[in-house]
Amino acid sequence: MCGTDHNPNPASPNKTPSANGNGTRRSSVSPDTVLNLEQGDPTVFEPYWKKMGDKCTMVISGGQWMSYVSDFTNICFFLEPEFEDAVRRLHRTVGNAVVDGHYIVVGTGSTQLYQAALYALTSPGGAEPISVVSAAPYYSSYPDETDYLRSGLYRWAGDAYAFDKKGHGDYIEVVNTPNNPDGTNRKAVVKNRPDDQVQGKLIHDLAYYWPQYTPITAPVDEDIMYFTFSKSTGHAGSRIGWAIVKDKEVAKKMAKFVELSSLGVSKDSQHRAAKIMGVICDGYQNCKAKNPELFFEHCQNLMTERWERLREVVERIDIFSLPKYPKEYCLFSGEFNEPHPAFAWLKCKEDIDLEKFIRGCIKVQGRTGRKFGTDQNYLRISMLSKDEVFDHFLERLSTIKAISNGH
Ligand code: PMP
Repeated sequence: MCGTDHNPNPASPNKTPSANGNGTRRSSVSPDTVLNLEQGDPTVFEPYWKKMGDKCTMVISGGQWMSYVSDFTNICFFLEPEFEDAVRRLHRTVGNAVVDGHYIVVGTGSTQLYQAALYALTSPGGAEPISVVSAAPYYSSYPDETDYLRSGLYRWAGDAYAFDKKGHGDYIEVVNTPNNPDGTNRKAVVKNRPDDQVQGKLIHDLAYYWPQYTPITAPVDEDIMYFTFSKSTGHAGSRIGWAIVKDKEVAKKMAKFVELSSLGVSKDSQHRAAKIMGVICDGYQNCKAKNPELFFEHCQNLMTERWERLREVVERIDIFSLPKYPKEYCLFSGEFNEPHPAFAWLKCKEDIDLEKFIRGCIKVQGRTGRKFGTDQNYLRISMLSKDEVFDHFLERLSTIKAISNGH
């Protein structure tokens, strides 16, 4: 059991309440509702895009974008030129990745591009599958996505810190920076040894390298980098990701993987993404001064506010802790900023199953540290939920008073 002064009738949240027929406000979240903060579903950004009204509206006629093909002269024949241009423009605007001289490969979410990158770096394959590692705590989907199809080309080998390169031969290290779940900035952990025959290869998963989550300290210039529409603008439902790739042959193989697994990527979605990216970039082009109406400023303020409120509650109840992040100079905003990650990486001071405890105690579903290759007293909580859910989460969290024996 847990010690709480849980209020069975929490006050209506002060944000985005729904109105009932009598014109009075009521919440759609009842005290019995389990708050799902397990997935990083980026619905926090919905109100911004709703407020944009018709600025991003597109009309698609029945005869538009029907072909599989966008451009047979491109190494990625299903890449819409408008989408490619929009991606390059967005990165030049934000300054988070080098795009000049690099190839763009579009994917159905960056989930597909992770698999495309593994395929490109390991095919045609040798006697043994190549080990894939990432430093713990690592993104919980990497192990499943790597091993789901029991590929003969590669296999999940766990925590990069624990990886004995000599004993395992060739490897691929996935560097997720800023890292899901703990928000830290990362560099590759396994080093290529000069006396060694084997060489490690890197995949950079930059899903969260956007100003709303972290200061942009330099444009990243790595061999394989990928980003996602889900976390940059919040449009997870469009299922769009893109990879920025230095080597032409690797880019070709990645495109081949996407061709074989889904025969390209929705053109409707590519155009929608291009439109939305264009609206963001136009905003910055037309407005040089700092403006809280612009997408990244708006979302930076949102995330800052959420983190301040969360830290205040966590400090007050003094049972849990959150990582501390150093301020760094952000080239995009021209200010020293603290990171405000997409997930809270909550640590319990006692060694308990924190997922079970929080679910039993305040009906909040997070994801246990065990799924990220670490301990059960860690819990990942999404910071990207709707306002109403986030408000209820803080309210419930603040009622926890103690962890009693047996929790
Ligand atoms: N990488 C990381 C680190 C993520 O957190 C996610 C989404 N949770 C993805 C990749 C995949 O995102 P998507 O397939 O929506 O592009």
